[in-house]
Amino acid sequence: MSEFFHSVTLDRDKCQGCINCVKRCPTEAIRVRDGKAKIIKERCIDCGECIRICPHHAKLPIFDPLSIMEDYKYTIALPAPALYGQFNNLDDVDILLTALLKLGFDEVYEIAKAAELVSDSTRKLMSQGALAKPVISSACPAVVRLIRVRFPELIHNVLPLHAPIELAARISKQAAVKKTGLQPEEIGTIFISPCPAKVTAVKMPLGTEKSAVDGVVAIRDVYPKLLGLMKEVNIPNEMSSAGRMGIGWGSSGGEATALLNERYLAADGIENVIKVLEDLEDEKFTDLDFVELNSCSGGCVGGVLTVENPYVAKARLKRIRKYLPVSCNRIDDVIPREAKWDARLEYLPVLQLDSNVDAALSKMNEMNEIIARLHGIDCGSCGAPSCKALAEDIVRGFATEDACIFNIKAQLHNLEDKISGLKKGELE
Ligand code: SF4
Ligand code: SF4
Repeated sequence: MSEFFHSVTLDRDKCQGCINCVKRCPTEAIRVRDGKAKIIKERCIDCGECIRICPHHAKLPIFDPLSIMEDYKYTIALPAPALYGQFNNLDDVDILLTALLKLGFDEVYEIAKAAELVSDSTRKLMSQGALAKPVISSACPAVVRLIRVRFPELIHNVLPLHAPIELAARISKQAAVKKTGLQPEEIGTIFISPCPAKVTAVKMPLGTEKSAVDGVVAIRDVYPKLLGLMKEVNIPNEMSSAGRMGIGWGSSGGEATALLNERYLAADGIENVIKVLEDLEDEKFTDLDFVELNSCSGGCVGGVLTVENPYVAKARLKRIRKYLPVSCNRIDDVIPREAKWDARLEYLPVLQLDSNVDAALSKMNEMNEIIARLHGIDCGSCGAPSCKALAEDIVRGFATEDACIFNIKAQLHNLEDKISGLKKGELE
């Protein structure tokens, strides 16, 4: 496998080179070259912002087709809480879970259930004083990747527990092996996802060598099928086993409130996330215990693989949760092994100019000189998001100052002046 897997890709034929995505990318991972966008794979965190912004639908998410179920003898659906918010008037979650069985899954394990186990584990670790404060949630894979490339000083604050999706896959697969007598590879754990970042989290996991999730399908692919199947459910099976806390994880603030600790901050939307991370790096928050950050606006309900407006979905989740118990799942005194990270989160210095400090300083000086020669308009016509980014590309050897249209214009003016000077000389 290549060193980088990305769940966001480009349809070159559709790309018009308009630079909308270049300006929007939070890690400056896109350039337009020869009229087409190009993703710098080392920098991309799979946040999905470019999918959202592209007016020509040229940026596409990658996920598995539902037919992936056919690759396994026994399949377990892992529905994200955000799925519950997609349906109008869903008063009973069991109708949806029963429809998943009708779709062909042998079993359903709610991510909301695993979320309650993660919340309980986090509460215990925090009460033991075992974590650096403020603890930053590790649930949104795009945020964890952003911290890894852009905020290395905050790595030690990231909660070293798997996201509920990973825990759900591990627990449900182990139980299914015991129940069916099948081999683990014959059992498929299929996550029904709101966003492409989760696809990357499965194919290139952080915090572990290998994910227990076998496939990731999009909510938007499953949704129309479930709509029909839910109408066929007369008496739903009693399946739901998550409370208010677990389902609350589907929208922004749900994870933080499940900690029963008021010293928290919850931010959503990639720009707000970056602002909070910058403030954390500058130690502006001195009295916080926990920080929940979601790359998508509204939290997971705002993922690009969903079908419903995130704020409508959020309101629906609130309604579903109203009559549920607070929580239905707790851990014993010991944090389950399956919940803990088994690999460290390492800094990925893709934004560094050079690994050697002296070389990095000299490149920085060179970059500043180039910036002074550029025009500071950040127009994006060169295909880079800003003049600073173009200067960086030049220092790294990926572009030249001729990429700047103002430089070309100045060169043309000089040429014009020379030609008219020569003509004048000839006449005299
Ligand atoms: S937004 Fe990006 S991918 Fe979409 S057309 Fe413009 S340059 Fe191409
Ligand atoms: S997915 Fe996010 S990080 Fe990756 S190229 Fe698109 S906007 Fe940039």
